[in-house]
Amino acid sequence: MADPRTLYQEVILDHNRKPRNYGVLEHPSHHAEGVNPLCGDHITVALDVAGETVAGIAFQGESCAICKASASMMTAAIKGKTRAEAEILIQEFLDMATGKRDLGQLSHIGRLTVFAGVRELPMRVKCAILPWHTLHAAFHSVASVSTEADADPMPAPIGNG
Ligand code: ZN
Repeated sequence: MADPRTLYQEVILDHNRKPRNYGVLEHPSHHAEGVNPLCGDHITVALDVAGETVAGIAFQGESCAICKASASMMTAAIKGKTRAEAEILIQEFLDMATGKRDLGQLSHIGRLTVFAGVRELPMRVKCAILPWHTLHAAFHSVASVSTEADADPMPAPIGNG
């Protein structure tokens, strides 16, 4: 079995070199901007939600490798999912990256487990979760989010409203 650290590095490098869904959407139904002042990450996430399904998703901006790789893998995972499925995945990723839940308690996370290691790197957690907070903001028509405000920039728990 491959060393998780090696796998982590390979996946990050791959998505950093060839980010998936990088660019703009012509007519997004939802979009939001996310900033992580701690690192200088600044991204936008745009969605094309048709009915209940995320038909299109794209991101762009300036960010470090971890943020870019997280955004790239996020867009690949979210595309084609329903809004409800996306919300579950957002919550699972945030819980994994911040150490709130162990991997055994997460059933939808799939290949995104390569980011489980960031919980041991406090400086990088905000880089990894920024795209997911930005996606959440986009779904809820919040124009922008910052990881600076407090430990958890989300105004309310996901899925309760
Ligand atoms: Zn960063």
